[in-house]
Amino acid sequence: MTIIAKINKWNPEPEKISQAAGIIKKGGLVAFPTETVYGLGADALNAEAVKKIYAAKGRPSDNPLILHVADFEKIYELVEVNETAEILMKKFWPAPLTLVMKAKNIIPSVTRGGLDTAAIRMPDNPTALALIEAAGTPVAAPSANLSGRPSPTDFESVFNDMNGRIEMILDGGEVEVGIESTVIDITNPKKILMLRPGGMPREILEETLKMKLEVPDSQSKKRSPGTRYRHYAPNIPVIIWRCGEKFPDFDNAAYVGIHAPEIKIKNFILFDDIKNFARGLFAAFRKFEREKFSCVIVEYPQDSFGIGEGLRDRILRSAGAENKNMYNKGEKF
Ligand code: AMP
Ligand code: MG
Repeated sequence: MTIIAKINKWNPEPEKISQAAGIIKKGGLVAFPTETVYGLGADALNAEAVKKIYAAKGRPSDNPLILHVADFEKIYELVEVNETAEILMKKFWPAPLTLVMKAKNIIPSVTRGGLDTAAIRMPDNPTALALIEAAGTPVAAPSANLSGRPSPTDFESVFNDMNGRIEMILDGGEVEVGIESTVIDITNPKKILMLRPGGMPREILEETLKMKLEVPDSQSKKRSPGTRYRHYAPNIPVIIWRCGEKFPDFDNAAYVGIHAPEIKIKNFILFDDIKNFARGLFAAFRKFEREKFSCVIVEYPQDSFGIGEGLRDRILRSAGAENKNMYNKGEKF
């Protein structure tokens, strides 16, 4: 049985936090809201507890987890903190920014997918911070969905994927950002790698660091195995459309995007800006799959900055299109 507890995410009730923290301390799993997406949390320093995360999600065991922390001192026990880390942590955390640093031995190998580095983040959400604080340990937390599915941005999505598989879900309503954190590898301060675009815009990081973030080569790609796997996909096909191109013509399709297509489509969700698009994308996928549309046509936000880069990444991956041509000139891929 999964315990469900509604929680005021801005000002969480202490008794609910202490119940959830008790489960984590005992090696159990709790799903909780963060500002990006819902996380599936376990004690990051307890290898047996972390194994349960992989099992509950069906996640490949070489896909490392992000350790979530609530205070700055703890970080020094977990990883080698260099000057770049200090600058970024002090300036931005709590934030949707994950830093990959050289791991210390205290972090079990299973938590870091066998790598010698670890990914750390301080989430910007009072419930997440209170839970981590009360658990008294870093909390390993990937998104609280079955592996490969759209990340959960509201309670119902977590419940659908995780009910019966974990000890507790904290229901904090809808999240704010809607896509996961930006992950950068800062182990070499002269060559900082963008491993995954996300909630923290690249431009802000580059301005702060006064350098460009680099694309990982094939060697460093191996160092972020998560990027290899199919991700974020609903169980109906995702078809990509760029504004200005011919709109795909499918029976019983649904559409999600910012621009209204020229042809009539009955079932659609239109967002008024890029932030709301990012916030609502995964919930739209889940709604359309629930309502059994034949496919979801999604707008590819071509030249938006900020969260646009992360949103484009999620859209490409959900369509399985990272390495293929996008829907164009009436062809399907
Ligand atoms: P998720 O938990 O699904 O949001 O994914 C976490 C992301 O962080 C994945 O893309 C992982 O590959 C990446 N990640 C976690 N730990 C590391 C690490 N030690 N080195 C590189 N990437 C990591
Ligand atoms: Mg995930």
